[in-house]
Amino acid sequence: MKKKLLGAVLSVAMVATLLAGCGGQAAAPAEAPAAPAAEAPAEEAAPAEEAAPAEEAAPAAEANGNKVGVAMPTKDLQRWNQDGSNMESELKAAGYEVDLQYASNDVQTQVSQIENMINNGCSVLVIASIEGDSLGTVLATAKEKNIPVIAYDRLIMNTDAVSYYATFDNYMVGTKQGEYIRDQLKLDSEAGPFNLEVTTGDPGDNNARYFYQGAIDVLQPYLDEGKLVIKSGQLDFDQVATASWSSENAQSRAENIVSSNYADGTNIDAWLCSNDSTAQGVVAALDANYNGEWPIITGQDCDIVSVQNMIAGKQSMSIFKDTRTLASQVVKMVGQILSGETVDVNDTTTYDNGTGVIPSYLCEPVFADINNYKELLIDSGYYTEDQLK
Ligand code: BGC
Repeated sequence: MKKKLLGAVLSVAMVATLLAGCGGQAAAPAEAPAAPAAEAPAEEAAPAEEAAPAEEAAPAAEANGNKVGVAMPTKDLQRWNQDGSNMESELKAAGYEVDLQYASNDVQTQVSQIENMINNGCSVLVIASIEGDSLGTVLATAKEKNIPVIAYDRLIMNTDAVSYYATFDNYMVGTKQGEYIRDQLKLDSEAGPFNLEVTTGDPGDNNARYFYQGAIDVLQPYLDEGKLVIKSGQLDFDQVATASWSSENAQSRAENIVSSNYADGTNIDAWLCSNDSTAQGVVAALDANYNGEWPIITGQDCDIVSVQNMIAGKQSMSIFKDTRTLASQVVKMVGQILSGETVDVNDTTTYDNGTGVIPSYLCEPVFADINNYKELLIDSGYYTEDQLK
């Protein structure tokens, strides 16, 4: 276990693969990195079958209001557009008024938007933060006014104003990516060595460390025995992070890596990318500069561009996180909060935001590749066939 990043929580990520989706069984708390501020001693997590959905008392919501503030980070990435519009339509269908805002990945803009939501009488706030650590002050005001906060997809750190967290099992996302590389390269039977490079996400996004750690925990033994080699030498989280999850930032770092280490045609066997926007940057860099065999490239989100890249053989896999499922779960939690019911959560051990563990609902991330994308994405109505052309 990587004490450096982990500090906390042991477990049985394997068992979590048994999960039956968002509305299904409790998630096995994943082995997860500690929240940066929570260097708490490791705690034994309950095995999956004992982690039954906990009953949590909802904090009192602002008097009988029915306006819900939904703060999303940016329109630049496809998934947040889907998250926002799914939330908006589901909340409206359930009879709520919705104040949906996007903050162009600018922290100050997000803070002002949340201030406005508070001043305009929102009764619950649903927030996908840009920087997990930057909302403490504004959320202290929400707390004073008894406005419950649901952290959406990304945990909001170091504030006791967060009532609940709803997300996909972030550690499991990384595990699936790492296992894919392990299995595709046949690391348990082939001699290697194989060349690997790594690109992860924004250091301000708590999720990024979970994705990274889930994958590295699978791959570390092969790195240790020299079967996987990182020619760039860049493996520490800070070295492989990508500010704002931006494709351009991922591309320029990948271009440097290729020109410094693979310009002579040496093969890159796999490039672990934590999500689709970073994978797209790596694909662009390889398209421009790389002459070796095309590597295995991982991703997450099933963005349209990345699914097209999968179909074209340029990205090997992605992770489908059905934003409809997460939105439905959060709308359900909003309803439970506003009516004073107990709120469904299925994990009460994994996500410590520095002030204590936040009761969470973890949805199941699903592996996607060229073989199952039609069933997952088209048959389920997530995309039309035409959108993927
Ligand atoms: C989300 C990913 C997304 C990334 C970049 C993360 O917090 O969980 O699904 O790819 O942010 O937007």
